[in-house]
Amino acid sequence: MSSDCLFCRIVRHEIPATIVREDEHTLAFRDIDPKAPTHVLVIPKTHVASLNEASDPTALGRVLLAAREIAKTEGIADTGYRTVINTGAGAGQTVHHVHVHLLGGRPLSWPPG
Ligand code: AMP
Ligand code: ZN
Repeated sequence: MSSDCLFCRIVRHEIPATIVREDEHTLAFRDIDPKAPTHVLVIPKTHVASLNEASDPTALGRVLLAAREIAKTEGIADTGYRTVINTGAGAGQTVHHVHVHLLGGRPLSWPPG
């Protein structure tokens, strides 16, 4: 846990969020500035700043599998969805706690900007 990390604070329920799924290891909540009808952020509860610092394959796998489960419950598993991890400033990472964006509910063009 990191005391000043925004997403760690959400994990500790110090900052409100619309939580859509929680288990022992992961937390998922709606993005505050959604870019698609479904825009959920899925994070490991343990603080890891970015994919560059990640070392636990099980933790990463849990986050991805949680995203897949949310895609099902959001009703976008069959129509299609995108899972994105922005890493570093050049990719637009603004919160330094690794997170998977789950986006869907509208057509998603490729490549992203
Ligand atoms: P990234 O730019 O990949 O680091 O993504 C960070 C995401 O966190 C952005 O899509 C923000 O809209 C979202 N975000 C920032 N603050 C909050 C918050 N308090 N609750 C939910 N989502 C947030
Ligand atoms: Zn954190």
